[in-house]
Amino acid sequence: ELILSIESSCDDSSIAITDINTLELVYHKKISQELQHSMYGGVVPELAARLHVEALPKILEECKEFFPLLKAIAVTNAPGLSVTLMEGVTMAKALSISLNLPLIAVNHLKGHIYSLFIEKQEVLPMTILLVSGGHTQIIEAKSLNDMNIIASTMDDSFGESFDKVAKMMGLGYPGGPVVQEYGLKGDENRFDFPVPLRQSPLIQFSYSGLKNAVRMQIEKLENQEGGITNQDKYDVCASFQKTAVSHIMQKLKKQFKKVVPENFAIVGGASANIHLRTQIEELCNKYKTNLHLSELKYCSDNAAMIGRVAVEQYKQNDFVNVNEIDVQTRLKGM
Ligand code: ATP
Ligand code: FE
Repeated sequence: ELILSIESSCDDSSIAITDINTLELVYHKKISQELQHSMYGGVVPELAARLHVEALPKILEECKEFFPLLKAIAVTNAPGLSVTLMEGVTMAKALSISLNLPLIAVNHLKGHIYSLFIEKQEVLPMTILLVSGGHTQIIEAKSLNDMNIIASTMDDSFGESFDKVAKMMGLGYPGGPVVQEYGLKGDENRFDFPVPLRQSPLIQFSYSGLKNAVRMQIEKLENQEGGITNQDKYDVCASFQKTAVSHIMQKLKKQFKKVVPENFAIVGGASANIHLRTQIEELCNKYKTNLHLSELKYCSDNAAMIGRVAVEQYKQNDFVNVNEIDVQTRLKGM
């Protein structure tokens, strides 16, 4: 008894097949478009949609042998880019109709959370830091159907700020890995960027001020004699990263002071950041909190995490009518 799941909310085309009873990931493939968007310094929605049209059927072709064992079709329907979500949803609808299988609409953010539980039993309740390209949130997850966002960003997300800083220095997309790499060779104390919302007692995030401070510093360096050097770029990356991570850590410490979670997790593409991981490990050690991390390969977008959520929805008979499934760019809550 298997579920086929499709993910196309941004720039990854991915399909997975998950065993409903054993949770085994029977098949999983992802075709990333990072290279094609790199020259633009960010994801171009129309281009992304066109690439999904090419990639998704190619992947689907490979899993035809499992079709007779399928019990449901699952697909990410929100949040994400509407034109790319549409590609996955259209394929899912066609499969649902032609194979006569029920359809499951999956919330992409719950997918990121369930990346923790791929081929594993779920561990809930848990407090979760979601750091991705579009989101920076602290979520209190009691169960799949009972999740509350207790903090979020007022503007840019953590991952997005890495993308923008990389773009300012022409380092390509996505910015996270390259900024982290450059930062290794830099002096994190050379530039003193202000930590956002440091004085605020509220637990919320903001990255646009930091982004602008970095932009001004880069402009200054570009205007110096000889222009910006590689060492300057390394130092900007290191100093920026230190501040970006400090901001998260200051707010997390506030949260831990309010309530010490028994289980804590970091999910989303930016949870791959080594500095963030290390500092959160220290925080959890200090408070004797169990820290859960998803495998690195499941941090960024993938269909395996969507399939894992779908297994739970399948057990709850949480299906959606083919004529009623819609795509949503943003979601108000969880
Ligand atoms: P969302 O799920 O919110 O719609 P998304 O799916 O596009 O967004 P992910 O694929 O989860 O986002 O994560 C991609 C983001 O993670 C990018 O912004 C990328 O720069 C960032 N990222 C990846 N690796 C790192 C890293 N080592 N350090 C910081 N950021 C990183
Ligand atoms: Fe994502």
